[in-house]
Amino acid sequence: MKGRWVLLVHGGAKEIEPHEEEDNRTGCLEALQAGTELLGRGGSAVDAVEASIRVLERLPVFNAGFGSVLNVRGEVEMCAAMMDGATLDVGAVGALMGVRHPVSAARAMLRKEPVLLAGAGAFAFARDNHVELVAPESMVAAHREDGHDTVGAVALDLNGNIAAGTSTGGLEDAAKGRMGDSPMPGCGFYADNKIGGVALSGHGEGIARLAAAAQIMGAIKQLGPEQAIEKALSQMERVGGDAGGIALDPDGRTGWWHNSPHFAVALASRDAPDGRVWLHKAEEKE
Ligand code: ASP
Repeated sequence: MKGRWVLLVHGGAKEIEPHEEEDNRTGCLEALQAGTELLGRGGSAVDAVEASIRVLERLPVFNAGFGSVLNVRGEVEMCAAMMDGATLDVGAVGALMGVRHPVSAARAMLRKEPVLLAGAGAFAFARDNHVELVAPESMVAAHREDGHDTVGAVALDLNGNIAAGTSTGGLEDAAKGRMGDSPMPGCGFYADNKIGGVALSGHGEGIARLAAAAQIMGAIKQLGPEQAIEKALSQMERVGGDAGGIALDPDGRTGWWHNSPHFAVALASRDAPDGRVWLHKAEEKE
């Protein structure tokens, strides 16, 4: 065991209205706790990322799972991904309807050959692999938020393994079948034990066109997590849209950066296991 664990979760790069602050804070901390309980007793980074994201998918304040924004047909279509930095296995699902926890469908795909399954194929996979199914309409929350707020998590476990995950309802009024960066490795997420892990949120087409996660992975060693994200996401002005990202490296260094008004981020580690949550740029300097 290498003796160090770290968990970063985020609830989206977005604008958080004052009345939504409390739900964002408590939601991120609850997600953090679900993951830290596992990491603290030697659990794997993959398990911690899945556990954290499942909490965020359950809460309507986040655009993932229950509470996802609706596509142009008024449906909840979800994308999610998991990556294991030990093996470089990727499991991702896109434009998926009728499951309660899309991240668990992605997790179930992790050891399978396909990297990404979409739509009816993703649903059939989830059904055949005992992922919890629900009536698609039951995923529509009455008080869901609008705006960008994919959720994500990155973890380093006591064995030095790194994992990353994302989950999203996509963009409001998007075309049926549309997928953004969140289920695409090298765009919305990546994990490699030798380099680090990253999870992004924001305007999916812009993030994908920049291959932002790949850029961040390429720069982490030289610049560290925060500056690597800043360097990649500063280029969002070339493609348009807001974005935010969280990242860590094998030494447990962490960082995040966003050009959106807010970015809900929570961080815990072996040295500070209770964790802390940040919503605003100003808070990041406190
Ligand atoms: N990145 C997500 C997407 O484009 C949206 C979001 O961050 O909420 O699907």
